Amino acid sequence: MCKNIKYVAAVCIVAVLLGFKSRMDKVYIKADKQNSLQVTIGKEQYKAALQTDSSLLNVIKIPEDEKLLRIKSAPIPKSDYQKVLTFMKQYLLPTMYESGGVGIAAIQVGLPIRAFIVDIPDTKVLHKDYEKNSNVRAFLNTMLATGATIIVKETYVAYSNGHMAERVKFRKTTPVLKEINGQQQVVDMIKEDIAVDDESIIDVVIERKPHFVLNPELELDEQGEKIVLPEGCLSVPLEVVQQQYTQNTSDVNRPRNVRIKYVDGDMHEKNMKIEGSMSDYWEWFARCIQHENDHLNGILYVDRLTD
Ligand SMILES: [Zn+2]
Repeated sequence: MCKNIKYVAAVCIVAVLLGFKSRMDKVYIKADKQNSLQVTIGKEQYKAALQTDSSLLNVIKIPEDEKLLRIKSAPIPKSDYQKVLTFMKQYLLPTMYESGGVGIAAIQVGLPIRAFIVDIPDTKVLHKDYEKNSNVRAFLNTMLATGATIIVKETYVAYSNGHMAERVKFRKTTPVLKEINGQQQVVDMIKEDIAVDDESIIDVVIERKPHFVLNPELELDEQGEKIVLPEGCLSVPLEVVQQQYTQNTSDVNRPRNVRIKYVDGDMHEKNMKIEGSMSDYWEWFARCIQHENDHLNGILYVDRLTD
């Protein structure tokens, strides 16, 4: 017993010292000539890696980069907001769009700072077989499950020298089906940009608008309603989930409503309550914010899979 008390005391002292150390580690954020960032926390240095011959960043993934993805990200000093936002608009946003993500945290490109982007596609279906009051996601999933190709018109924003511009892209999405456990499942999507001169062939219109989030503070409505939704992550390849996790699902149960305080893309302080019940869009918005905020604390959605 006595030994145990000593042991507990020693553990507590180490824990206090470690806590003290992490509070003492100062965060330095430096931008290079190309507006990319180098982050120094204590003795550690972090840099986002560019893909070869491209202005897109490498997205780090488990299992090889798990150690980095598990780091708790550091708050961004106010004097660095501009640098971080410039980096997010120039590099992180196009990287997220190109990877087909609806959210991305800075740690996913190797920078442990408290910043992420959320951009839930606002989707309207024009396909002739779609009825207005049916569920958008269910309709598209049914189409994809049969191997059907979908033509998408997507409007999104891009930044050039700090100026925002609206862009339009036409895309052909073709599902790749594979038989898993005797069932045909969509394992990948082939997306190719195409030219469209007749807009009557468009099945889906997607409008995108990114939300830049710095130093978020979340208040989860843990007592309130919870909802199960399927998640995915640019840092968690599907094969890894199938190999390493026993759950045959990507379903995660989380609060439906959330309050968030953060600094936005114009460096304004925001405080908003997101009610998932308002619409499909806000349901996914509330969900994505919780998923991205988890990244800042070294948590991955696979840690929260339902049984
Ligand atoms: Zn993720």
